[in-house]
Amino acid sequence: MNSELSPDILNRLNKFEGILGYSFKDKSLLLTALTHSSYVSEKKVNLRDYEVFEFLGDAVISLIISEILIKTFPKAKEGELSQIRSAVVSEPYLAKLGRILKLNKFILLSSGEEQQGGRERDTLICDVFEALFGAIYIDNNYSIDVPRDIFNIHFKNLVIRDIKSGNIPRDYKSILQILTQRLFGKVPEYRFVSAHGPEHKKIFTMECIINNEIKTSGEGKSKKEAETKAAKEAYIYLKEKYKDSLTNKNKHKSNNSETEKN
Ligand code: MN
Repeated sequence: MNSELSPDILNRLNKFEGILGYSFKDKSLLLTALTHSSYVSEKKVNLRDYEVFEFLGDAVISLIISEILIKTFPKAKEGELSQIRSAVVSEPYLAKLGRILKLNKFILLSSGEEQQGGRERDTLICDVFEALFGAIYIDNNYSIDVPRDIFNIHFKNLVIRDIKSGNIPRDYKSILQILTQRLFGKVPEYRFVSAHGPEHKKIFTMECIINNEIKTSGEGKSKKEAETKAAKEAYIYLKEKYKDSLTNKNKHKSNNSETEKN
């Protein structure tokens, strides 16, 4: 295991710790957070990849964001808070935060992934960003204090500013779901339509179907991206179409809403 920590890798870890402003007690945790599975299989090294840390870090970040939101918007309702939280913890937004730390430059990737532009993909940067906070959490005996301080030092003001100015990519799939539950008591369905182009440059088309009557479609570099575009179109359409009932019946309609329950 130690043989894997070559001077080059140690150097990378040190550099990143400098940007982060935190020095790991256990460097192997940071190494794991930065290691993509493709690197492990290509180099045939005995390293863990970041996936389990990502699973943990996802929850850690969600908790940190929840605290920021509750303190910043003390009067907001649960439905609104979870909507904002999903926008903040969305892939494009967490990738944006990761890029601020230049996280993408430190990820250990296979040369294949590298050639396909993997290093610049939001999905990867978001996952590693989550893994990083999972690693910091473990490094502090599963206590939230240090991960929260690190997050807040780097990002708290930015996140609040972005929320207030609407400068945050909305998670259209979540907000559409909240809207259709409120309007129809149903969730949207997503269907695969097609995938075109070469393996590494595939363009997916997905459809979003609501209540068997509204159908929109979207294209993107991943199914999720295509779904998000279809969801955005449906969201804008429904908001306009049901403008009046959404403002008037707001009060008693919201009793049926899944998200407003305790
Ligand atoms: Mn993830």
